[in-house]
Amino acid sequence: MPKHPKVIITCAVTGAIHTPTMSDGLPITHDDIAHQAIEAAEAGAAILHLHTRDPEDFRPSVEPEHYSAILARVKQSTNAVVNITTGGSPTMRIKERLKAAEHFSPEMCSLNMGSMNFAFHPLVVNGQKTWTTLGQHANMIFCLVRTDPEAKQQEGISFLLIDMNTPGIEVRPIILLDGSPEVNEVWFTDVKVPVENLVGQENKGWTYAKYLLSHERTNIAGVGFSQAGLAAVKRIARAETQNGRPLIENPHFAARVAQVEIDLRAMATTNLRIISKAAAGGAPGVEASMLKVKGTVIRQEINDLARRAVGPYALPFSSEAVEGSNDLLPDPHGAGPVAAQYFNNRKLSIFGGSNEIQRGIIAKVKLGDGR
Ligand SMILES: Cc1cc2nc3c(=O)[nH]c(=O)nc-3n(C[C@H](O)[C@H](O)[C@H](O)COP(=O)(O)OP(=O)(O)OC[C@H]3O[C@@H](n4cnc5c(N)ncnc54)[C@H](O)[C@@H]3O)c2cc1C
Repeated sequence: MPKHPKVIITCAVTGAIHTPTMSDGLPITHDDIAHQAIEAAEAGAAILHLHTRDPEDFRPSVEPEHYSAILARVKQSTNAVVNITTGGSPTMRIKERLKAAEHFSPEMCSLNMGSMNFAFHPLVVNGQKTWTTLGQHANMIFCLVRTDPEAKQQEGISFLLIDMNTPGIEVRPIILLDGSPEVNEVWFTDVKVPVENLVGQENKGWTYAKYLLSHERTNIAGVGFSQAGLAAVKRIARAETQNGRPLIENPHFAARVAQVEIDLRAMATTNLRIISKAAAGGAPGVEASMLKVKGTVIRQEINDLARRAVGPYALPFSSEAVEGSNDLLPDPHGAGPVAAQYFNNRKLSIFGGSNEIQRGIIAKVKLGDGR
């Protein structure tokens, strides 16, 4: 056994997995790929494992025309063995993978063996994410970050998990009218995120976000909140009087209670149907938008009925009551949080995607683009 066993050094200079956002050092132009391949050969690489990229958008390419300039320069300047890749995405057919190798007949084509020394550079995040609910308590945050500035609006976005303790993250509270920092701005300055924190494929983040949002929207419908809220409204309206009669007997008030109860029962049944369908696999589709709109309109109506039912008891402001303290202001209905909930829940028709946008989604799916 020789003391120093012979080694053959192979170098793939650009590859097909790495993207320009992962490293400034990644060669993506034909000029740079050729230049780095030649430098690799001068540094001792015996085999140059070549990939190429489309000069328009720098995505990996299998087109012979995107190899020609690189191969010409490499052949002219080195004696290295040229190995044209036959790698590619799992969705590519063998014929596509072999396209350049068949065209140029290099000394070798892809050899999948031995170890690969991938250099995974961190992604660097700069920017701001506002309205981050309870972000002050979070140890992780997920962000949708733009990784391809050239791509269309909802493409070129990636889904990243970021540790909130990473240097460069600053959480700035947004103090609301009731004095609480329920939401925050989170600022990112040169935040380095390990590439293994990328969820799924780069630039496919919006697809994953839509999946999550369909669950979030179903949740915002808040059937349980509404059922409890409606029961409280009825209890208060039986105790409160108007013109000597229980408020619940006021025809206008009773009609509103009846209408919201009908809507809530119908929505609760629809909710169960949608959840049981999703439990069998998959996620709710456009139904999530429907639940979000209907559920939040119902929740806001119940908040309004509660505010109407407790009347002047809603006036005093008690931050302890908002927090759910037992030490409530002296009123017969525990009305302390009613006004605060009424105002706080204005958010319901905004967050998770505003109700106007949800109505647009429903119309698009059900009526099509040509409506
Ligand atoms: C209290 C609160 C908490 C939040 N928490 C979080 C959080 O934790 N994480 C997070 O990521 N985000 C959070 N958000 C952000 C929230 O998801 C967005 O504010 C919401 O989706 C609306 O988006 P926008 O602010 O960009 O408004 P836009 O979408 O710009 O809407 C502005 C206005 O224009 C209307 N509008 C816009 N486009 C159309 C259209 N095509 N047709 C008709 N009307 C239109 C809207 O209905 C709205 O009235 C929170 C927001 C609030 C208010």
